[in-house]
Amino acid sequence: MAAEYNKAEADFFIVALKEEARSVLWKVGSNTDPETLVKGVMEDLQALARSNDGTDTRTDEEIWIQVRERLLKAAYETRPHCIRCGECCSNGSPTLLAEDIALFRNDTLKPADIVTIRCGEPVYSNREEKADTAQAEMIKIRENAGEKTCAFYQKWDKSCSIYESRPQQCHKQECWNPEASEEFVESARLDRKILLEAVPPLWELIKRHEERCSHDEFARSMARLSATKGQTVEEVLEMLRFDYHVREFIAENFGLAPESLEFFLGRPLSAFLGLYGLKLEEEDGSFILSPVE
Ligand code: SF4
Ligand code: SF4
Repeated sequence: MAAEYNKAEADFFIVALKEEARSVLWKVGSNTDPETLVKGVMEDLQALARSNDGTDTRTDEEIWIQVRERLLKAAYETRPHCIRCGECCSNGSPTLLAEDIALFRNDTLKPADIVTIRCGEPVYSNREEKADTAQAEMIKIRENAGEKTCAFYQKWDKSCSIYESRPQQCHKQECWNPEASEEFVESARLDRKILLEAVPPLWELIKRHEERCSHDEFARSMARLSATKGQTVEEVLEMLRFDYHVREFIAENFGLAPESLEFFLGRPLSAFLGLYGLKLEEEDGSFILSPVE
C-alpha cells in the first residue's frame, strides 16, 4: 500500500514538474520540449529534495521556489539570446551610464525624457523584490504614469522607439544571464553633476536644493516630527516650501519645461509624504500637512 502511494506521489510530482517546465519555457519563449528540460536537470532537482534526517527546515513552498528557479535557469540556457519580447522594457526603465551622455549630444534624449533618483530616495528594488533606498544618485528614463514601462516602449508592436540609440543598459541586458546584467549597472553611472556642472548658475541652485532638501535630511525631519508628535511641523513645512518654490524659480528663470523638473531636482518631496501617512494641502497660499484619510 505504501509503495503504491509513493508511486502515485512520484507520478504526480513528475506531472507537476513537466507543467512547471512548460510554464517557464513559455515565459522565456523557448520551443524546447518540457520533458527534455526536466530530464536534463533531474539530478539537480533530486538534490533539492527534502532530506530525511530532520535538519531540513525548508517549507514545501520554499523547495518549490528553488525547483522553479532551477527550471527557469535551464530554460534560459535553451534560449541564450534576446528575442525582443519586451519584458525587460515593461519591468522598469534603464539606469543611464556615463557613456550614455552621447545620447544627449545627438538629441536622442532630452531632460523631459529622464528623471533623477536622488541619493537616499525610497525606491523598489526589482533585484531584491523589496522596498529600499537609493545608495547613490541615478538618472533613469521616465516610466509611463502608474506603470514600470519605459516611456520609449511601444506596446502595440512590442518595439523600442529609440532602438538604434538605446541606452547601454538595454544593449547589455541579458535576461538569460542575470549576474552579467547586474555587474555593469554598478559601473560608472551618469548623474546630474556630469551633465550639469558646466552650467554654473543652474548647478549651484541644484546643489543648494540638495543641501536643504536631501532625502536623508527629509527622513530625519519626518522622524523628528513623529517623535515630537507634530511639534516640529514647521521644520518639515519649511523644507517642503523650499522644494516647491525652487522648482517654480528655475522653471521661470531658466525657461525649463515643467516635465523636465524631475530631472533637474528629482521628484518633489511632497510625493513621498504618503509613505508617512501624510499629504500636503494648500489653503490661501499656505501649506498644511494633514493625515491621509
Ligand atoms: S533581454 Fe529583454 S527583450 Fe530581450 S529577451 Fe530578455 S526580457 Fe526580452
Ligand atoms: S530604451 Fe528601448 S530597449 Fe531600453 S527599456 Fe526603453 S524601450 Fe526597452
